[in-house]
Amino acid sequence: MRNFLIAGNWKMNCGPQETSDLLQGIKNSDVKIPDSIDVLVCPPMISLTTASAELEDQEDISLGAQNVYSEDNGSYTGEVSTQMLNEVGCTYVILGHSERREYFGETDKTVNAKAKKAVSDNLRPVICVGESLKQRKADEHELVVRKQVEAAILDIDADDAMDLVIAYEPIWAIGTGESATPEQAQEMHKMIREVLADVYSQDKAGQIQVLYGGSMKPHNAEELLSQPDVDGGLIGGASLKADSFTAIIEIAD
Ligand code: 13P
Repeated sequence: MRNFLIAGNWKMNCGPQETSDLLQGIKNSDVKIPDSIDVLVCPPMISLTTASAELEDQEDISLGAQNVYSEDNGSYTGEVSTQMLNEVGCTYVILGHSERREYFGETDKTVNAKAKKAVSDNLRPVICVGESLKQRKADEHELVVRKQVEAAILDIDADDAMDLVIAYEPIWAIGTGESATPEQAQEMHKMIREVLADVYSQDKAGQIQVLYGGSMKPHNAEELLSQPDVDGGLIGGASLKADSFTAIIEIAD
C-alpha cells in the first residue's frame, strides 16, 4: 500500500553542467520506472533550475532541494524560500540531514519549523533522523531517534501527515560503506512507524514512507528494501552515477 521512494541526495556535488550530464545519463538508461516507485533527485540549489528543465519531459522523476528556510522572504542572506523552490519545480525538500545538524547548526526546532513551512507550501519534507555510533553503543539509538521524529513533526496535523517522509540515516553508516544490517534497519523503521501511529493513527502511519539511508548500494539494496517497514532509500554516493542509481531503482521493482 506504500510506494517505494528511491531518492538521490547529491549533497554538494554536481553544478549545473554535471547535473545536466547525470540526468541525461539517467534518462538515457533503459530504466523503467513503474507506478509503484517514486523517484526523486535532490541536486544542490544552484543546479535546480537546470535539473527542472532537464526533467520537464520526465514526469516520473521528482525534484527536491536539500534545505529550505522557514520564512517567506526578506532579510535572510543566503537562504531560499519554499515559494522559490515551488517556482523551480521542486515538490520535495530534504530537512535535518545529519550533515546539516553537525556543520550548520540545524536543530530539532529548526527542522520542525522548516517541516511545518514545507507542508503548508506543498513541499513534501524528507525528514532525516539517525543516531551516532556513540549513541548506538550506549544503547540510546531508539530513544534518540524517537525524540528526533517527535520533535520534527510537532504541530503538523494529521491532514498534512501524508506529505511527510521520514529517512532513517544512522550517522555511522553515512559515507562509510558500512550500512545498517537489514535487521537493524527494520527494527528502527518499525519503531519510527510506531511513533507515527502514536502521534497520528495506525492507518496514517501505515501510509507514510520511511526511507533508509547510509551506504545503500546496488549490492545491499535488495535485502534492505525487502524489509517490511523499509519503503525506499535516501542514497548519497550511489546516486551520483546513473548506472548505480538506476540499478537501485530496478532492484526496488
Ligand atoms: P551515502 O549513501 O553516501 O552513505 O549517503 C547517505 C546519505 O547521507 C543520504 O542522505
